[in-house]
Amino acid sequence: MKIKRLRLTGFKSFVEPAELRIEPGLTGVVGPNGCGKSNLLEAIRWVMGESSPKSMRSGGMDDVIFAGTSSRPARDFAEVALVADLEGAALTSIGDGDSDGELEVIRRIERGQGSAYRANGRDVRAKDISLIFADAATGAHSPALVSQGKIAAVISAKPAERRQMLEEAAGIAGLHVRRKDAEQK
Ligand code: ATP
Ligand code: MG
Repeated sequence: MKIKRLRLTGFKSFVEPAELRIEPGLTGVVGPNGCGKSNLLEAIRWVMGESSPKSMRSGGMDDVIFAGTSSRPARDFAEVALVADLEGAALTSIGDGDSDGELEVIRRIERGQGSAYRANGRDVRAKDISLIFADAATGAHSPALVSQGKIAAVISAKPAERRQMLEEAAGIAGLHVRRKDAEQK
């Protein structure tokens, strides 16, 4: 799976809709302190299902919604859309439908209402989203997304936590969720 586009609306400092094309050759995002570089990485993790506000540098999940400035009012929702090339991978967790080789995931949060997800035009659960990305060996906790402090966390991780990282990298993390599901049925 390859991320192709990212669209942010009202997410943290990205108050106006902003679209980013992530194309081969892109190696870095540069800009002055506080311009929103880390917010971009957080948007990728958030749309992939990140559920911990702390790892978004937020007190509560509503804090990802643009909070307003002296010249701009706060927004009441935030939305991030991610478009990815499936590169032949199947969308088994939501049914392939008319994916056309592409996946579009949208996460939207309304102040006080929590998050809702859509995948290729259908309403889906947070769990479906994490399965899609787990099957593609990526996701909000993928070792490919290294946030500040993560290196130290890997070094001091307990063996079970390190195993979880390896399983995510190997693309088998989704199997645990499915096993738990099957055991409950
Ligand atoms: P650095 O180079 O210091 O790492 P950066 O480019 O990574 O900076 P970010 O941390 O992505 O910057 O962006 C921080 C900015 O985002 C701050 O100015 C902060 O006020 C703003 N910000 C974060 N959350 C919100 C929010 N909910 N509403 C409005 N602005 C926000
Ligand atoms: Mg930063």
